[in-house]
Amino acid sequence: MEKRTKHPQDTTEQAAFRAEARAWLTARAPLWGDGDGWSTRTTHFDVAAEKAYMDRCRQWQRELYEGGWAAIDWPIDHGGRGGERWQQQIFQQEVARFDVTSGFLAAGIALAGPAIGHFGTEEQKVRHLGPMLRGDMVWCQLFSEPGAGSDLANLSTRAEPDGDEFVVNGQKVWNSSAHLSDWGILLARTNPDAPKHKGITFFLLDMTTPGVEPRPIRTINGSAHFNEVFLNEVRIPTENVVGEVNGGWSVARLVLANESTMIGGGLGRADSTANLIELARRWGKIREPMVRQELARAYTREKLLDVMGRRLQESLRRGRQPDLDGSVLKVYWSESRRDRGNLGVGMLGGFGVAGDHEDTKVWGNEALNRFWGSIGGGTDEVHRNNMAERVLDLPPEPRVDKHVPWKEQVGG
Ligand SMILES: Cc1cc2nc3c(=O)[nH]c(=O)nc-3n(C[C@H](O)[C@H](O)[C@H](O)COP(=O)(O)OP(=O)(O)OC[C@H]3O[C@@H](n4cnc5c(N)ncnc54)[C@H](O)[C@@H]3O)c2cc1C
Repeated sequence: MEKRTKHPQDTTEQAAFRAEARAWLTARAPLWGDGDGWSTRTTHFDVAAEKAYMDRCRQWQRELYEGGWAAIDWPIDHGGRGGERWQQQIFQQEVARFDVTSGFLAAGIALAGPAIGHFGTEEQKVRHLGPMLRGDMVWCQLFSEPGAGSDLANLSTRAEPDGDEFVVNGQKVWNSSAHLSDWGILLARTNPDAPKHKGITFFLLDMTTPGVEPRPIRTINGSAHFNEVFLNEVRIPTENVVGEVNGGWSVARLVLANESTMIGGGLGRADSTANLIELARRWGKIREPMVRQELARAYTREKLLDVMGRRLQESLRRGRQPDLDGSVLKVYWSESRRDRGNLGVGMLGGFGVAGDHEDTKVWGNEALNRFWGSIGGGTDEVHRNNMAERVLDLPPEPRVDKHVPWKEQVGG
């Protein structure tokens, strides 16, 4: 495992921050490879194991919070450190070298946190941001529906006002860890007479509210990470609306932008090619020309992802809008993840899909899971559309339903 402390492109200030972060981490956690590997064993086959994993993630989140590293670039009065975005990026690079994770809590913080921080009331910030960062509240995302995924604004879960509450009825789907979450960010339609983007409201939902029913969905690898969430006469206080009633699409856009950058920029382990090389050695493939070419490709992709992450970091350090579109990073990352699964399982031959070897469990699962990154957080096709419009300035897709009341649309 690499032990150097300075990155070649760090400024003096960045190198000092990196050294401080690394010293704190070294005092508390084993380097990845020296620990028991729990942080990358993210797939669980029963709820008890999943819950135990979540508890370990909560514990690490609490340590981060107490050490002042849970949200480096958030304001101090929201539980953060009042630091800079580039510091957050450096800390992410460093923590990826250690056998620790906040797991799904990190996703909740990255998605719900900025939405509340940016659009929430003072009361919402005080009530939710600190407990979220301390690991006391796990948050899930209740956006997708059977008829609204890529076309999210077509969602049909209804929220109708009733005194100082809204009454919600509908169904969500593919909601990661909703069965283990304390709170959820929810999109629901509050005005069906308005065009689809203009009649949606963003809510904070206490998952213990009567009428909220998460039903885990078992997927091909045997785990049940996702849920359908049924909402039946669920009462949400008006004080849990984030932003304006019917103005929820602006809040959702912030969440979706953060989601693709989070997935593309934050989930890769620095040593992922090192794992593949180790696997090639173990299975006697290290001299095979095709395997070597693929390993070189994986390494190149890993380095390019690192360079893109740094480019993003540099823009942030200079206080500029990032000059790299989040969709570019997300698609490049999802392709890399898919190739990595193919390569790992391919090296194992028949053992990649059958047998009870430890590598079969890890890489067989990786192969089954290899497409999630091309769908979750927006599909590759949708991100390519984004790139066409935002980066290449190509003509936009036709949007014939943009000004039509939602209830007059097909499926509305
Ligand atoms: C691992 C994972 C975790 C997830 N977690 C959550 C979660 O926590 N909360 C939540 O709410 N949702 C979650 N999702 C759901 C996810 O957001 C949706 O699956 C995704 O937005 C795609 O929607 P869909 O599945 O309805 O597919 P569809 O939108 O029906 O797409 C089907 C196919 O059509 C293509 N397509 C659609 N529109 C276009 C277009 N305009 N141009 C070209 N091609 C198009 C798509 O690319 C895709 O190939 C998760 C999904 C995954 C895989």
